[in-house]
Amino acid sequence: MNCASRWMMAWLISVASSLAGAADTQAAMHLALATRPQKTQPADPSAEAGPVASPAEQLLRALLVDRMSVDQERQLGARIVGNLLGVAPLLDDAALQRYVNLVGRWVAAQGERPELEWRFGVIDSEDVNAFAAPGGYVLITKGLYRRLKNEAELAGVLGHEIGHVARRHHVKLLQRSHMLATLGGAVVKEVPDEHERMQNIVGRGAEIAARALDKAAEYEADRIGMILAARAGYDAYGLPMVLREIGHLSEKDDRVALLFKTHPHPDTRLDHLAEAVDTRLDALDEGALLEQRFVRLK
Ligand SMILES: [Zn+2]
Repeated sequence: MNCASRWMMAWLISVASSLAGAADTQAAMHLALATRPQKTQPADPSAEAGPVASPAEQLLRALLVDRMSVDQERQLGARIVGNLLGVAPLLDDAALQRYVNLVGRWVAAQGERPELEWRFGVIDSEDVNAFAAPGGYVLITKGLYRRLKNEAELAGVLGHEIGHVARRHHVKLLQRSHMLATLGGAVVKEVPDEHERMQNIVGRGAEIAARALDKAAEYEADRIGMILAARAGYDAYGLPMVLREIGHLSEKDDRVALLFKTHPHPDTRLDHLAEAVDTRLDALDEGALLEQRFVRLK
């Protein structure tokens, strides 16, 4: 199995097991960041009549009514990340991981959801890619990290992923898939057995999550990435520089296969960014590249 399909499998498995509530979240702890004590969930009035719902059922219900708490979002994200780390663990380089967290948190602090416990990590994969999971998790592969030339480029890449989390792109995708299934009545009415019903929902969620986010979500994340990097004091063109670099790679290159499959081509993304930005950044002071401070891979 090549790298791209391994990732695809990991993503599928992670979404499936997240929804099933069966994944081991321990791996997520390898992000080595302090977890706050669990907050108690606010009481859900609709849950009072029936028997106590399992966490997976609560999650599905929250998805369905679009009332996912920050805690539920974080739990879902932790399970997804736990599975991804099972395929490609974090690089064993504490200084690098600390650095990426410092940059990522500074960029995230400029955004719409500073309240999330943002966690960033560099993972041991030669693929050129970055991932985000609900609740504030962002991973970048060493294959992509190696191509970065300065801190502004790192800020732009992390900013794109922060944009996905802040605008809840993955949550919304799952929500739509579940909503469709429910509206179709296939899941709820036709399958009386609770376990089978859950498996059905899980399968549907995984199926849809394996597809790319819609293009509009990707362009939005690009715009957010650029804006957040600029607000954080970096050269706003870090992300476009990375896109230009990646755009030169062949589509046949295994290392970018998944990225090209799940995102519009970098050249198209650049066109959209140029259109959105227009002359709007002209008034900005020149941001920092911070090439000297950039921590390189060992
Ligand atoms: Zn993206």
